[in-house]
Amino acid sequence: MDKTNHYDALVIGGGPAGLTAGIYLSRARLKTLILSEGTVGGQMVLTHEIANYPGVESISGYQLSNIMKKQAKSFGCDIKANIQIAQLELNGKVKSVVLSDGNHFTSESIILSPGGRSRTLGVPGEDLFKGRGISYCATCDGDFFTDKEIVVVGGGNSALEEAVSLTKYASKVTIVHQFDHFQAFKHAVDEAQNHPKISFRMESVITAFYGTDHLESVDIKDLKTGVVHQFPTDGVFIFIGYVPNTEFLQGKVELNQWGEIMVKADMSTNLEGVFAAGDSTAKRYRQVTTAVADGTVAALAASDYLHRKNSND
Ligand SMILES: Cc1cc2nc3c(=O)[nH]c(=O)nc-3n(C[C@H](O)[C@H](O)[C@H](O)COP(=O)(O)OP(=O)(O)OC[C@H]3O[C@@H](n4cnc5c(N)ncnc54)[C@H](O)[C@@H]3O)c2cc1C
Repeated sequence: MDKTNHYDALVIGGGPAGLTAGIYLSRARLKTLILSEGTVGGQMVLTHEIANYPGVESISGYQLSNIMKKQAKSFGCDIKANIQIAQLELNGKVKSVVLSDGNHFTSESIILSPGGRSRTLGVPGEDLFKGRGISYCATCDGDFFTDKEIVVVGGGNSALEEAVSLTKYASKVTIVHQFDHFQAFKHAVDEAQNHPKISFRMESVITAFYGTDHLESVDIKDLKTGVVHQFPTDGVFIFIGYVPNTEFLQGKVELNQWGEIMVKADMSTNLEGVFAAGDSTAKRYRQVTTAVADGTVAALAASDYLHRKNSND
């Protein structure tokens, strides 16, 4: 075994969950490598301002990512960003990862934290106005729309519950939904339907976003008549589902029907020595704080596993 490329722990994904795992593992003097497909920081780097991370009143996601990265490195954690995994072996006592550049790493344990992404509408202007009027997270961005008129897209529990929560900030919320009925629980539908600030555009879809620096209007198409209206709005929140970045884990570790990694309370998976953390796991609330908490638990459980393994070897 090549000792230079052999680690106590490999962490797949360098978002807040993976970085936190890296901090805890390296601080416990375990030789750790974080491998991340994108830029280190994950979805945090897409976040203009994080105002709900305890102890830090307001910080850009990019800055918070850099602090976490520096902290992990200060404890000796190795980090490789912008990599691509070509082969992954999670079974057996020694785990193995081969990158597309041919680099090969092995480890005694592994933490999976590849995060996820919000499902997008895929219509013109969406990429341009992401973070400039288009949001996928009410908890994160609701406050920026105080006294503004906004649109919420979707018809499931998230869309209706978040639409109600956004009425704390927005002066008016219009829900745009493609069907003539909702897929949410009755109490969520009732609460939205009885709310004085919420109105509905049923059997309708957004077909384009417009603006200059910031989103100013959307095209809404009535699916019954085919008529398209331009609808002025300050912001659009899209809640049409969440996709975990677990395509590369299909058939390798237990996932649920939505592709989320199944974990126990200590973030262990169905495989020995394999743990998971953050937005890619099966859970309801996805925030930096919850990712950081998962990363902590996964790292402590992995340390414990390694300690027991070494005592028995
Ligand atoms: C626009 C936006 C604003 C947000 N604002 C806030 C906020 O204000 N406050 C808050 O608490 N939360 C906010 N969130 C949510 C928060 O960013 C996430 O909950 C958190 O980043 C999840 O952390 P994670 O480490 O699980 O995953 P991620 O942050 O998604 O990181 C996962 C990392 O793994 C990498 N990866 C993916 N697949 C692979 C692979 N196959 N191999 C290797 N690496 C891989 C990814 O490139 C990424 O770097 C926001 C999210 C978005 C999108």
